[in-house]
Amino acid sequence: MTTQVKHYIAGEFTTGTGSKVIEVTNPANNSVIAKVNAATEAEVDQAIASAKEAFKTWKEVPVSERARVMLRYQHLLKENHDEIATILAKETGKTFEDAKGDVWRGIEVAEHACNVASLLMGETVENVARNIDTYSYTQPLGVCAGITPFNFPAMIPLWMFPLAIACGNTFILKPSEQDPMTPQRLVELFEEAGAPKGVLQLIHGDKTAVDKLLSDEAIKAISFVGSVGVGQYIYKTGTDNLKRVQAFAGAKNHCVIMPDANKQQVINNMVGASVGAAGQRCMAISVAVFVGEAKEWIPEIKEALAKVRPGLWDDKDAAYGPVISPAAKQRVLSLIEQGKQEGADCVLDGSDFTVEGYESGNWVGPTMFTNVTTEMSIYKEEIFGPVLCCMEADSLDEAITLVNNSPYGNGTSIFTASGGAARKYQHEIEVGQVGINVPIPVPLPFFSFTGWKGSFYGDQHAYGKQAVRFYTETKTITSRWFDEGSVSGPNMSINLK
Ligand code: NAD
Repeated sequence: MTTQVKHYIAGEFTTGTGSKVIEVTNPANNSVIAKVNAATEAEVDQAIASAKEAFKTWKEVPVSERARVMLRYQHLLKENHDEIATILAKETGKTFEDAKGDVWRGIEVAEHACNVASLLMGETVENVARNIDTYSYTQPLGVCAGITPFNFPAMIPLWMFPLAIACGNTFILKPSEQDPMTPQRLVELFEEAGAPKGVLQLIHGDKTAVDKLLSDEAIKAISFVGSVGVGQYIYKTGTDNLKRVQAFAGAKNHCVIMPDANKQQVINNMVGASVGAAGQRCMAISVAVFVGEAKEWIPEIKEALAKVRPGLWDDKDAAYGPVISPAAKQRVLSLIEQGKQEGADCVLDGSDFTVEGYESGNWVGPTMFTNVTTEMSIYKEEIFGPVLCCMEADSLDEAITLVNNSPYGNGTSIFTASGGAARKYQHEIEVGQVGINVPIPVPLPFFSFTGWKGSFYGDQHAYGKQAVRFYTETKTITSRWFDEGSVSGPNMSINLK
């Protein structure tokens, strides 16, 4: 039986009237599990109008009441954690453990949104001039929108709407059309948490819906997470239309392995960080740079990767699931083929991997290349599959230059026993998130998710204090109250006297 996915417009769940039907498939065998009617322009208009109307009252709701909605919401997310993770695993193919991680990292942001009152605090200076005080408030922007990718259908929507709404905005979420059931469940629970109708809207669809959000004057800010090309398009179009935009894009993350690192730690961490989640993480380690004698560990990493077995979401022994779609699989396989043709050594080839009984699924086995150079497509392109590229450097300086020459700057890590090497790396590396003996350094929500260079377009990043700045305006007030009978004469200068 296929599920009909619903939009949530003006406080009602609706199948919509759009004639374009998008199929949601189980990536393990490509059977259709759900359908969604892509939103029409009129439906997007309706969502925008409703969010605009709801903003008038929501922005006046006291901050403690807005925080209470978030408190109830994070509680409901925790109560329904496994159920959400099951929906997520079925539509993404992620293993249940991995799906639970996706939900949990989102819950942490919802928890953070409960602190909104402290996060919104402005600044005050008394007596900036005689009897004059200056203080600032942070006020919401209006209607904000979020456009999210397939690879974290719980975490990434939760990076956006809880904080935006806690700040007093209303929000329109346009999640990936490839796995829309998880976001629908997140929205149902938000309604159950007591959010007034209209504060959050959910519209499904593709470019048509996105273009409407990018062009409508009522939308004040756009948060986007997805691929590089689309990220650049969203940033350019949104800012051209005078909107505030934050666009998180693709990545190619390097891990530098020093010869003094703990070998077993390196091997264990490289396996999970490279092929975990089938490599479909924007913070996956896709390039390992071995400095000096560390290259002698390459055969053992290959051996460890060769033992990794993909499988079904509910197979407790499976390390990861299929990639999201036949098109995604085809792209990964074609990059593997290009890697071979361009002269890299494919020491472990997962191109022909399959799972018995699920031969039509989008499986790719763990894959590893050695002798990779910066000119090769497997180095230049984000593969977004379970593929590790191994490179070598003679020194830490050479490794740093290699990483800094990459156009991307989402995440990186170094494995070493030397404080000096780690300090040098963290200081000189031109990447926004650095792990020291931590392979995937995704910051918790009281920090921000701070990708750099081609991995991010904008100024303020996701969650933490930066997200609060992104979703608010600062209003600065300069105020003077007169003592009875002390009215001063005309002031012809701009100085405060
Ligand atoms: P995608 O760019 O294909 O899609 C992202 C969103 O944009 C979806 O909602 C989709 O419907 C919409 N979209 C797609 N094409 C569009 C177009 N032409 N015009 C307007 N909207 C369009 O990305 P994806 O394949 O769903 O996700 C994987 C990508 O996301 C990878 O590149 C990954 O690195 C990146 N990602 C980045 C981060 C980060 O924080 N930097 C986090 C997660 C994923």
